[in-house]
Amino acid sequence: MPLTPLRCVLLSTTLDLRDYLSSEITRLEGHVTFIDHLDGSDAADVQMAVGWHPQQDAFDHYPNVRAACSIAAGADSLLHCPSMRDGIDIVRVVEPAQAEMMSGFVVWHAIGHQRQMGAYLQQQRFKVWQRLPKRSAADVPVGILGYGAIGARVASDLAMLGFPVKVWSRTEKPTSAGVTGFQGADGLRRMLDDTEILVNLLPLTTETRGILDAALFALLRRGAYLVHVGRGPHLVEQDLIAALDSGQLSGAAIDVFDVEPLRGDHMFWGHPKIVVTPHDACDVTLSAIGGTIRATADAVHAGVKPKDTVDRMRGY
Ligand code: NDP
Repeated sequence: MPLTPLRCVLLSTTLDLRDYLSSEITRLEGHVTFIDHLDGSDAADVQMAVGWHPQQDAFDHYPNVRAACSIAAGADSLLHCPSMRDGIDIVRVVEPAQAEMMSGFVVWHAIGHQRQMGAYLQQQRFKVWQRLPKRSAADVPVGILGYGAIGARVASDLAMLGFPVKVWSRTEKPTSAGVTGFQGADGLRRMLDDTEILVNLLPLTTETRGILDAALFALLRRGAYLVHVGRGPHLVEQDLIAALDSGQLSGAAIDVFDVEPLRGDHMFWGHPKIVVTPHDACDVTLSAIGGTIRATADAVHAGVKPKDTVDRMRGY
């Protein structure tokens, strides 16, 4: 017997999810029925949500929601929503193609730093014809905070290019060729020591909030470069500016911010040592989001835990 389509509410304060997910909403017809927040229909019938920066009280309106899907790899905006309840499974999207795209973004900045792209762009502005000293990737150690679905792909690609790669994770895990793993507070200090390019690929949790601060920057090799693609609140913005001003950091690529979109008057826009991108390092495909929603709806129907459910205790 065909199952009744599951009712799913779309919750976002920053994105028109009906428009963004229109192709998937059509594809999932007959399987999932999407409703808009507070559209007047019976909220008690809603068993599932799709959310991205939901309204703070959103889940108070839907007492029978059993699962909430993020539209991205990070589910922090659902996890930290004040009306999120125990018992709602929070699901994130995991897609190898996203890790590949993120890897391209990080490799672009890593090689840009190693090969002094900033200095060449500056020279061109003043029509300066001057060859600059070159260094092999082997002389530029990279540290990666986070060795999960995305960090692991980034690490192995950088190692293949010849960068010595060190990774930091919460638990010990096997590493690929050319990659050395570290854990814990002492492991973090050892991983940062002499690191020249630091990549942040951590989820936002109570432990990782504010981790990119002056104390951490001080442990890196002088003139290090930061590639920050985790979440805005990982970074203490004033500490970044101070580290850039003092020369402890030579530059930073920042893709994620405390408040997005970045305000027009924010100091990062005009800073000569900062490259700003609009939370655009990589995307999950719409079909991967649709696949996650469908698999989650199936799990809710079957009364089982959906795949890629976030561990509430760990916070990611
Ligand atoms: P995963 O959950 O697969 O991996 C997270 C990694 O972080 C794991 O290795 C985990 O350790 C480690 N970690 C978590 N907490 C700690 C801690 N307290 N100390 C040390 N290590 C810790 O996530 P993904 O790789 O899929 O994504 C990572 C993050 O990247 C996302 O949460 C998001 O913030 C960001 N992101 C940004 C995007 C962008 O466009 N800018 C796009 C996609 C993701 P362990 O392995 O032991 O569990």
